[in-house]
Amino acid sequence: MDCVIKQTNGTTAVAVATPAGLVTGEQLAKIAELVKQGAGLAKFTTGQRIVILTGADQVQAVRDGLAEVGLSIGPGGKTIRNVKGCAGSLCRYSAQDGLQDALALDKIFAGRSMPAALKIAVSGCPRNCMESQSNDIGFVGTPSGYKVYVGGRGGRKQVLGQLIREGVKPEDLPALVEEIIAKYLSATKGKERISHVVEKQGVEIFK
Ligand code: SF4
Repeated sequence: MDCVIKQTNGTTAVAVATPAGLVTGEQLAKIAELVKQGAGLAKFTTGQRIVILTGADQVQAVRDGLAEVGLSIGPGGKTIRNVKGCAGSLCRYSAQDGLQDALALDKIFAGRSMPAALKIAVSGCPRNCMESQSNDIGFVGTPSGYKVYVGGRGGRKQVLGQLIREGVKPEDLPALVEEIIAKYLSATKGKERISHVVEKQGVEIFK
């Protein structure tokens, strides 16, 4: 489900999928062009995406323009959202490459339909710039691998994710995310997020 949302000022917000907040100069120039053709404004989101404010009749033109530079409209609603990632190995503090590992996860999981929104964040070290414990699945890099948290969320009732694993190697992250999703899908009733499942059934089922 594309993230296209009507705004109170009559414009339509179109969220561009920019996994881990990474864009090229060419992509940024195209986004700027589409912004100028729309309402003249863009907004950066907490999910590391750029929202273009435009007219409802311009959504297809935005979609086509984004496709010209290898971009697309990001997933919204009941899906796995674009994966957030920190600066990774570009950062002098990095213990793991939170940028490349986030991009790898995004390729596999972003856009997959779920019973509710599912957010994933990857931080390359314990400074935790991606606030990983505020996401449904969060990773925090350490020299021995990633610490893995489940059940975090923001919103009206904020919850911190709980630790389920330590020392997970980057190459094992996709399989572990699949495992967590499988456990979530078999445990959830209706539209619950992972945090609701943890609240009702305990974090043990994810260990
Ligand atoms: S989480 Fe750590 S590695 Fe990533 S940007 Fe922040 S300080 Fe750098």
